[in-house]
Amino acid sequence: MSPQQLLASEKRHQWHPFTPMDGWNDASHTPIIIDRGEGPYLFDSEGNRYLDGNSSIWTNVHGHNHPTINQAIRDQLEQVAHSSFLGLTHRPAIELAKKLAAQIEGSPLPRVFFSDDGSTAIECALKMALQFWQLQGLPERSELVAFDHAYHGDTLGANSVGGLDSFHGRFSKMGLKTHHVADIATLRDLPRSTCKKLAAIVIEPLIQGAAGMRLWPKGMLAQICDWCDANSVLLILDEVMTGFGRTGKMFAFQHEGIVPDILCLAKGITGGYLPLAATLTNETVFKAFLGAPENAFYHGHSYTANPLGCAAALASLQVFEEEKTLENLAPKIEYLSYGLAALESACPQIAATRQCGFIAGIDLAKADGSSLDPPDLTGAHVCEAARAHGLLTRPVRDTIVLMPPLCISLDQLDEALLALTKAIVETIR
Ligand SMILES: *Cc1c(COP(=O)(O)O)cnc(C)c1O
Repeated sequence: MSPQQLLASEKRHQWHPFTPMDGWNDASHTPIIIDRGEGPYLFDSEGNRYLDGNSSIWTNVHGHNHPTINQAIRDQLEQVAHSSFLGLTHRPAIELAKKLAAQIEGSPLPRVFFSDDGSTAIECALKMALQFWQLQGLPERSELVAFDHAYHGDTLGANSVGGLDSFHGRFSKMGLKTHHVADIATLRDLPRSTCKKLAAIVIEPLIQGAAGMRLWPKGMLAQICDWCDANSVLLILDEVMTGFGRTGKMFAFQHEGIVPDILCLAKGITGGYLPLAATLTNETVFKAFLGAPENAFYHGHSYTANPLGCAAALASLQVFEEEKTLENLAPKIEYLSYGLAALESACPQIAATRQCGFIAGIDLAKADGSSLDPPDLTGAHVCEAARAHGLLTRPVRDTIVLMPPLCISLDQLDEALLALTKAIVETIR
């Protein structure tokens, strides 16, 4: 297809996620067509190069087109692309479950249930928790606790535990019974009668991504864990964004010395190459599903534990070891914090910056430092301007997200910060 034909076909047939499609299809809008990637860079159909400033929506870990991950997928492809996980098993999934469990000291979450993406990992965790209590003879424990501003995915169950009105409000009355709390204090204020009806609490540890990179207070996760123990409520951690090194450790909960009952992993699990997710749990939860056949977890998907995805995930964990990804990340995290401080002091158009490991949120303001008007979509305009300076990222309203692949070099990080500075100064006058 010629460039004109591609554009016409795109606008005739696509329906994009999280996108007002009239603006997308407007004659004035020419979408970028991504053709290839290399390390932290993406290249479009015109040959322009961009830093992947949000790791292709928080998925990419070791860079694009990584030889180790490419080869692992190719090798698996020569064996078999897919075979069912219902009544059969395969080597990549056997090896991956073992390796995932071994990522946590002492392997306290040895049971791995595979699915396809973040939402399905959450869906699986919620149903696992609900059925666990039924099997314990406590079916009244059928309600959930989730946090304001939370994002756990778009399927209906995940939507019920979401707390972002713009995404979840429309469907909020159509799902699971959920108590939404603001913080540890409001959690502790829940009446005793409510606590007795709870199956689980679900939280994004350390940082809420889609809320605009909102940081939780230090120590809160450990307090929640104690509260769960005291009230016999299962703790589900959504590490779909924070998992696989993003916060500086393999998993965010490892910063607070706790272990959840159920852990949801997706996005970075394959290094950002293929859709795959895993819900990990402990032996106590797992054992409840044994015994009578009707106790079994009758849940799963056609592509559960897809061998290509598992091969990519194994290769990504291998790269973590070979390239000492986490060791090398520590100085980059420090460098990013200097960069953000410099950016903030150079631009009155920045109200605040936040950082959790290698994840940064940059709150924009007007040129005089006052608050922006959300309908002006300033965040989106800044990200558009950043493209001309070779940086791709997306805002959450007027917060710019910067979370490049972990493989990015310090020079490339400078490039990203410079592009962002130019875009901000140009856009907000
Ligand atoms: C992205 C995300 C999800 C949903 O994952 P999908 O793969 O998009 O379904 C869930 N929780 C968190 C914290 C996320 O960032």
